[in-house]
Amino acid sequence: MRLRLPQERPAAPPTGYKIAYPVLSHDGTRAGFTGVSLGGGSPYGVLDDARCAYGRRHRSPARFCDCGFHCLHSPAEALGLTCTGAHRRAVLLEVTVLGAYIRYERGLRYARQRVRTVRVGPCGCGRTAIRLSDAGWGRPGWWTAAADCGGCGAGLGRPSVTFAEFAERAGSVTVVTEPGVRDAAPASVTELMAEAALLQARLDWFQGRLARVEGWGN
Ligand SMILES: [Zn+2]
Ligand SMILES: [Zn+2]
Repeated sequence: MRLRLPQERPAAPPTGYKIAYPVLSHDGTRAGFTGVSLGGGSPYGVLDDARCAYGRRHRSPARFCDCGFHCLHSPAEALGLTCTGAHRRAVLLEVTVLGAYIRYERGLRYARQRVRTVRVGPCGCGRTAIRLSDAGWGRPGWWTAAADCGGCGAGLGRPSVTFAEFAERAGSVTVVTEPGVRDAAPASVTELMAEAALLQARLDWFQGRLARVEGWGN
């Protein structure tokens, strides 16, 4: 007896979430993404079909192979994957799942995908990103891009693109940014004066200690 998976006929294509790295082609004309695990070697476009990551000639997804696009149901769970050190600089994608899919408890594995939204986290320095810059690594023909505040990556002379340029080269996709944690307003005069008073107090204490040490030396 051959067991069959239950068939689903959703009224609208399912939405899912995953993490990926934005990539730009070496000649700068195309933009896409690479996955963080299985299939991470081959970039995919905004609208793309899954190919077997093992080079086997069959349609993805297949029950006998674990290839195909993957996504999770919850954006929080997808973002949780960036906690691992290796994926800290990945972006969060919101995708529409097209074609055949296999449902799992936490997500789907499927045949065809459209990337709707790219959610870019803060720059490595903690400021809100304003562009995507060369992360310093890539794959043959593609450089990987990461969130950049405009001073950390592009400031070093590395290639970079604005979000609008990335979206245009990728096709049709929306790029949104997560606010950084270091974008606080400049310190007020009161805060600066409080800081100066604190520094003065510490300096007085330090000079007092120094005087005592000098006293012992004599
Ligand atoms: Zn396969
Ligand atoms: Zn920065």
